[in-house]
Amino acid sequence: MMGHQKNAGGRLMIIEELRENLISYIKKKFYTRSNTAIIEWQEKVCFVKVMKMGEKRLNQSIEEIAASFLDENKLKSFLDFYDFFKKNKIGKAKTGRTGISKWTIIYKNKKIGHFSFHKNSWSIDYFDLFNRNKWLEECEKYLTAELKDFILTNINTTSGCCVNKTCWSVENKIILGKLFNGRVCACRPVEVINPDGETLEYAKELVLIGKNIITERENVL
Ligand SMILES: [Zn+2]
Repeated sequence: MMGHQKNAGGRLMIIEELRENLISYIKKKFYTRSNTAIIEWQEKVCFVKVMKMGEKRLNQSIEEIAASFLDENKLKSFLDFYDFFKKNKIGKAKTGRTGISKWTIIYKNKKIGHFSFHKNSWSIDYFDLFNRNKWLEECEKYLTAELKDFILTNINTTSGCCVNKTCWSVENKIILGKLFNGRVCACRPVEVINPDGETLEYAKELVLIGKNIITERENVL
């Protein structure tokens, strides 16, 4: 699974270093355990830590990363989306703290949204509600009734980043003619989790609408 032989030496050094730190830490915290149990336990901790570090360094393909997160059905849907993504010449850039499980969806160096993996789930989010952009207003003319419904049923009112805190969330926002009384996440206002079937098709459509909006903005300038 690790694959990269050239990093093996470096990993061993990390393991040694972690082992020493952990042994002294664990001995202080769990001095009642037997030595063998301590060593077995801390080796597992080391292994997990090194795996995580290794994952960041490994240049896995998105397909491989997706496969490591998702079960068969979800993976199938994601790969369908990713195939669409590539066919439509949409760009992506790694983003987020972990650097591995989240990508920005880009067209002509402009952000449309993100896609990301979580524990056996994946999601796509679109647009933002920052003042400089009027994504949801701008997309309206491209929407069929079904797509409008798709957006309205996937307005993100639960995200921890904005809704539970006070960062950028907006209140009493009218989106496509519908009033949202509570807070709406401003950085990920539209978010769809594990799309498949018809929902996946709408999800793709909305990416294409993002492309249209970016092209349109460019023509206005
Ligand atoms: Zn947010």
